[in-house]
Amino acid sequence: MTNAMGFFNDIKVLPRGRYLQLVVKITLLDDAIIRSNEPEEVLTFTYKKLGTRFIIPWRKVKGKLRRMVMEKQRELNIPQDSKCYLKDNLCMKCPACLLFGGTGETSKTKSSYNLLSRVLGETFISQTEVKDISAYTANAVDEETLTTGQALMTIVKVPTETEFIGVVTLRDPTKELTAILVDNLNRLTRLGASTREWGKVKTEIIGYVLSDREMLSSYDIVQEMPADLNNIKDLQLPPVEDSFRKVADAIIKILPEGEGGQGKKKQKVTAEAEKE
Ligand SMILES: [Zn+2]
Repeated sequence: MTNAMGFFNDIKVLPRGRYLQLVVKITLLDDAIIRSNEPEEVLTFTYKKLGTRFIIPWRKVKGKLRRMVMEKQRELNIPQDSKCYLKDNLCMKCPACLLFGGTGETSKTKSSYNLLSRVLGETFISQTEVKDISAYTANAVDEETLTTGQALMTIVKVPTETEFIGVVTLRDPTKELTAILVDNLNRLTRLGASTREWGKVKTEIIGYVLSDREMLSSYDIVQEMPADLNNIKDLQLPPVEDSFRKVADAIIKILPEGEGGQGKKKQKVTAEAEKE
């Protein structure tokens, strides 16, 4: 899918209608366990056309990705004067907040602006149909005492080597934002909170498309992989550490003055500006 469209060299607050879509494959390296009394990490869903498939909700992948970006930037001491923590302590001026969004009300900065997520995702769908689903009922284990009590739970096993396909979309991409997203996708080796029970995963980026619209969907790709995806290696992305620093510097320039930024005083950054 060749396209004359390129990457942006700067970061702006308002959307400019360009979409980098990454086709991502997540492979289970262990059996995964689904427990009905935990927040589900893998579910099953029955499609009319695809039959019954295992699915991973996007919010699970997004939550994990955001945490990893935050860990990485903490390691790099970015931003220097602020610490950013989920969920009530968002700093609203770091690469993670720029990529995954945040609202002023829930941030410690009590800022008067919101950041819309630039990373858009969708459900990951297993490449094969769910055959005989092995569900059984067991005594629930108390997480604190590790003893079994009266509570029963349903356990469903997702087999090793199950492959999930999903599309992760970056709105208005720069090379640096792409480098951060790609690096953290590649470092995604576990999903979900219960890593004791959760098997490891391997995450691969199959290819990308850059367009003025969202051209790809998981639903279509599990049926047929597009033959003309671009190779992410051809992008020659900058080193991830440099990218974090460059993005962190760029954010200060677009945030309103008085909110720790250098931009216009009390500029309304999102919702209100978009109405105009
Ligand atoms: Zn932040």
